[in-house]
Amino acid sequence: MSDLSDLPPQASWTDAAGCTHAGAVLHRVQGFDVVDCAHCGFRHVLPLPTPQALAEVYAHDYYRTEKPLYIERYLEDRDWWECVYTERYEWLEAALPATRRRLLDVGSGPGLFLASGRDRGWSVRGIEPSTQAARHSREQLGLDVVNGFLDADSAPTLGRHDVVHLGEVLEHLSDPAAMLRLAHDLLAPDGLLVLVVPNDDNPVQRIVHRHLGVAPWWVAPPHHLNYFDAASLAALVSRCGYTVEHQETTFPIDLFLLMGHHYIGDDAKGRQAHGWRKTLERNLHGAGAEGRQLLAGMRRAFAGLGMGREILLYARRSGD
Ligand SMILES: [Zn+2]
Repeated sequence: MSDLSDLPPQASWTDAAGCTHAGAVLHRVQGFDVVDCAHCGFRHVLPLPTPQALAEVYAHDYYRTEKPLYIERYLEDRDWWECVYTERYEWLEAALPATRRRLLDVGSGPGLFLASGRDRGWSVRGIEPSTQAARHSREQLGLDVVNGFLDADSAPTLGRHDVVHLGEVLEHLSDPAAMLRLAHDLLAPDGLLVLVVPNDDNPVQRIVHRHLGVAPWWVAPPHHLNYFDAASLAALVSRCGYTVEHQETTFPIDLFLLMGHHYIGDDAKGRQAHGWRKTLERNLHGAGAEGRQLLAGMRRAFAGLGMGREILLYARRSGD
């Protein structure tokens, strides 16, 4: 897989626009090299799939073959997601005037984040490439969700918003900077961008890989093309016209591997680990101010160590 001694030290590849992506090779999985790209400033696979090839995967196959239980599980976890989304909306409501409550969710999945905002009085809209997920949002939840990709053609039809939310989207794209510039155009002046991406090659993953001999399970091309950490994500966002206001990380679920609970490739054990994490967070979330403060403090502490499974970033559109 990616025993470092078997890897070439460097790789490079030139895209259709003539840009050369090159850097040290960190992993080689399924014919893709993951390089620390000097051109982009973050780690990504080489070669990068064309946007057309990706469009095919996400319009038809992703939820059916790659994540067949995704919608079902998302709904099963609904109470926990409600805690997660409540915290996210509370942050946004504190950072924006009460008159600014228009939100666009890009890659809105089955629609629970939008439904949570609607219940709090937000005016919400989604755009989602999966036909199954978009249909669920419209028919089961009565949401305004466009079935498609956010691109230069669809963006002008979506209106302007006070918040653009991109949850677990950027890691899937050949050109995440282009997506951030589109989001910039969709935001009203001083609007807020919210990003969630995996926190990859984090210290827990590195230790489990190198010292427990587990193959790098987080490297998942062609679905995951980009591999961020807090610094490379913040640098990308800043280059695309935003000022980063806050970053934190989600629970470091990979700690369970260090405790000997080997859930990689074992769906039942994976759900068990996820269940423990949900219980921890719901108990703290439901324990009043003291519980919420402890949860927030744990997140800060984990993030300070580079730990946490995902990065959550809030940034304001700058230059207005
Ligand atoms: Zn690059």
